[in-house]
Amino acid sequence: MPKDYYKILGVEKNANDEEIKKSFRRLAHEHHPDKGGDPQKFKDINEAYQVLGDKQKRATYDQLGSAAFEQASAAGGFNGANGFGGFGFGGQGFDVNMEDLGDLGDMLGGMFGFSSRGGRSRSKQGHDIETEVRLSFLESIFGADKEIRIYKTTACSVCHGSGSDPEGKISSCQTCGGRGRVQQAQRTIFGVMNTVVACPDCQGTGQRIEKPCKHCSGTGMEKLERTLKIKVPAGMSEGEALHLPSEGEFPGRGGRAGDLYIRIRVAAHPVFSRDDHEILSTVLIPYSILALGGTVDVDTVDGKVDLKIPAGTVAGTTFKLKGKGVPYSNGKNRGDHLVKVMPDIPNKLTREQKKLLEDLGKLGL
Ligand SMILES: [Zn+2]
Ligand SMILES: [Zn+2]
Repeated sequence: MPKDYYKILGVEKNANDEEIKKSFRRLAHEHHPDKGGDPQKFKDINEAYQVLGDKQKRATYDQLGSAAFEQASAAGGFNGANGFGGFGFGGQGFDVNMEDLGDLGDMLGGMFGFSSRGGRSRSKQGHDIETEVRLSFLESIFGADKEIRIYKTTACSVCHGSGSDPEGKISSCQTCGGRGRVQQAQRTIFGVMNTVVACPDCQGTGQRIEKPCKHCSGTGMEKLERTLKIKVPAGMSEGEALHLPSEGEFPGRGGRAGDLYIRIRVAAHPVFSRDDHEILSTVLIPYSILALGGTVDVDTVDGKVDLKIPAGTVAGTTFKLKGKGVPYSNGKNRGDHLVKVMPDIPNKLTREQKKLLEDLGKLGL
């Protein structure tokens, strides 16, 4: 049975790498067997990500479908629990790239009995941080400069993450010859796996520190609160996220920082709402203008504009104010503003108004 990896990961066919990675992480956490998830589903999710998370495999999959990978799996002599492996291994062992998995790599490691602190990963990566920024409706339309405060682990301000006292010497680690990685053969339920793991003596840095930094006790880390100035581009919508690479947690000596994701929250507006790049609003106008035609003032995100109402306009008619909508990310074009007109039925009438309406009624209006 061909499998629809996109469906399994709950993403669109044109999803970008980031969306695929995010969706995979979310689903994998959700369906993790340790948390009572369905193991088959969990395997499917992993299988799907092994393919879609890799540019080349994804391209092959888009052309040939999942059969291409199922065959590869059979040819590799892989006949254990279906799904998890199947790619890029030959002979006795196979390599698993756990780099993309973050936390999950550790969980999988626990589950399958191997270490994720290795693979093809060059250095350990810190955790991603997710935070939010709140915008008013108008800020979301036109963009805004915002400040956010995050409390995070950063590289030590004295040794810049090296862990070494600025006066001290750094020499090559003797255990790994300065490479930071050592080979390890591990027996797993899939057979023997050759993994390259971080050197246990230097934590993968390849360096030996003679005099540790006093400020961070040689860890290379420092926890502090930082204020970040961010530029929110025009046209961001509720739930979208800004991605700031390397602004996440610093994992310590020899590692690289994770990323920061800032989710956009947009407050509701009393007059305007939004549908993709269109702004929507409803205006109440006198019944007589709908019938006879005229001009009314309409609020837009750019201020008031005149809107011409032709005679005989039916209640609920929508008018398009071109280019008064949400800016596109190209910075040039904007969507439109759609204004729906409704008759303003007064709930209190003067004696004179009442008399006139009664007369109109008599004329069949
Ligand atoms: Zn330090
Ligand atoms: Zn070493």
